[in-house]
Amino acid sequence: MTKNMATVKGSKINAVSSWNSEIVGKFARKDKVMLSEKKCSCKYFDYIKIPCGHAMIAVDGLGVPYDTLCGDWYKTSVWRETYAGFISPKSDLRDVNILERVSSMIMYPPNTKRQVVRDHKTRIPFTGEIWVMAPKKKVVANRCGRYRG
Ligand SMILES: [Zn+2]
Repeated sequence: MTKNMATVKGSKINAVSSWNSEIVGKFARKDKVMLSEKKCSCKYFDYIKIPCGHAMIAVDGLGVPYDTLCGDWYKTSVWRETYAGFISPKSDLRDVNILERVSSMIMYPPNTKRQVVRDHKTRIPFTGEIWVMAPKKKVVANRCGRYRG
């Protein structure tokens, strides 16, 4: 709300009636505020239900606190009421009545596709893994790339 108020600093109020106002802002932009319906032509107040700067300027002369313009869902009293209901803990599973045909069923793990087993020669060993593998046979002797020696 503080940011919203800063955006309309220096605006002028043209009161149409006690609950309807026209706010003339910078660059002669006009916004209509309907406080009784909690609406403004800028649509911020309509959608967010937090008073826009226009609504806050309009309400300044009426002595109405800003927080009364906020939507009910922002109020802690509404939050408390939401969670005031009784939340029962989960009962013990042994106390739950399970149908005979369900409890007599034997459950097996799901059929899954067997993973492809890689050949040990092509598998990349993970870090720290030591494989006892036959040393590679050298087909070509080492040779210097520059001098061919
Ligand atoms: Zn507005």
